[in-house]
Amino acid sequence: MTFDTCRQCGTCCRKGGPILHHEDLILCEKNILAFQHLITIREQEPVFSPLSADIEPAPRELIKLSGINGTWTCLFFKEKNQTCGIYQNRPLECRALKCWDTGELERIIYRHTLSRRDIIAPDKPIWPLLEWHNEHCQYGKLAALTLQESDVESRIAIIINDDLSIRQRALTMFNLNLAEELFYFGRPMFKALPARLAVRPNRRGGLTVYHKEV
Ligand code: SF4
Repeated sequence: MTFDTCRQCGTCCRKGGPILHHEDLILCEKNILAFQHLITIREQEPVFSPLSADIEPAPRELIKLSGINGTWTCLFFKEKNQTCGIYQNRPLECRALKCWDTGELERIIYRHTLSRRDIIAPDKPIWPLLEWHNEHCQYGKLAALTLQESDVESRIAIIINDDLSIRQRALTMFNLNLAEELFYFGRPMFKALPARLAVRPNRRGGLTVYHKEV
């Protein structure tokens, strides 16, 4: 059976909120989308690509609507009646997505996307911490290390512990809540480790990286 209209099944919204584009900046300026509604996907971070329907490194920094309750289901999706809580103001990708014809979405995907620089005022005092984080905690470096077979655990641990410690510093300095942390810093990097690596707390208050038994 084929169809050419939205049946409001909610499948798209459960697969994850949209990536934001410059056309969506007005929604941030009107505070319809606030920092706590957004999550940063950092450059090279493994993320689901709607183009390949697979996990791939993000081609650049992206801003996405957050998920709800630890899932990727868009936080504006109303499960009870399967509707969008901001339907009249839904972002560009939501307006473009027609599940029976993804051509329009494919034409805009990854084009003119927003980054934190478009949203956070340049004089915000958190910027030095974000710059430090961008320089010292890169997904590209983490991915390169995880491709090596051995003797990389301690070098990986430096990156993921730097990632955690700069977040802790920002939480203390700026009294951020979890949602704001996810916007400013993205997901904690240890969550992107490949399945053969695991972490455990150590006595220094950080994480130790180890290979899982097979
Ligand atoms: S903003 Fe609305 S339409 Fe877009 S994914 Fe979220 S709930 Fe669905």
